[in-house]
Amino acid sequence: MAERKTHLIHDLQNHIRYLDELGAGFVTAQAPAADSPPPEQDLGALEAAIRECERCPLSQSRTHAVPGEGSPQADLMFIGEGPGHDEDIQGRPFVGRAGQLLTKIIEAMGLRREDVYITNVVKCRPPKNRNPQSDETAACTPFLKQQLALIRPRVIVSLGNVPTQHLLETRSGITGMRGAFQEYEGTPVMPTFHPSYLIRNEQNRDLKRNVWEDMKLVMELLAKK
Ligand code: URA
Repeated sequence: MAERKTHLIHDLQNHIRYLDELGAGFVTAQAPAADSPPPEQDLGALEAAIRECERCPLSQSRTHAVPGEGSPQADLMFIGEGPGHDEDIQGRPFVGRAGQLLTKIIEAMGLRREDVYITNVVKCRPPKNRNPQSDETAACTPFLKQQLALIRPRVIVSLGNVPTQHLLETRSGITGMRGAFQEYEGTPVMPTFHPSYLIRNEQNRDLKRNVWEDMKLVMELLAKK
């Protein structure tokens, strides 16, 4: 009996240590208490935990984990699918061709990358840029949830099918979902096309126009106090 108790305590200690490694206040943080560290520190700890993460097999093939970057006080958060080749090399989100287009979109909205927060559903590159698998998204979801809890953006933009279907728990495709606000735990979500999709279909100018219409709705919402 005593031996079993010791085992249980040991297991519990390991579990708490593990949760701690995922980021300070991971278990309870929703609204930080008045005396808790400022969001920068919490977000920094969370990003550091993501860089060390080995919770799923993607960690074995990555060069760098890509936690996300931008303002800890961002009103607007962009969520993509997962890092690609350039992001894996640099450890930063959306820095390849799709990233350059995303940067242009952000700047056309009158913002800078540093004003928003940019991250992905999974923080490590899936081999050959395949879609992340359900066990990989499941392992990574606590990180995304904690990023949302710490940053508390006023609006989320989900880029393409993967983040839209994941956040909104839907199987509907992006073409039908884009252009209308949805909600994730009380936060408005605007689904729109992924920049890579725009690049792959460059001849279809309507797609770019569609994204711009979606971003105008986002700007209108952000302009309301
Ligand atoms: N595509 C994504 O979904 N995320 C990135 O960070 C880069 C490309």
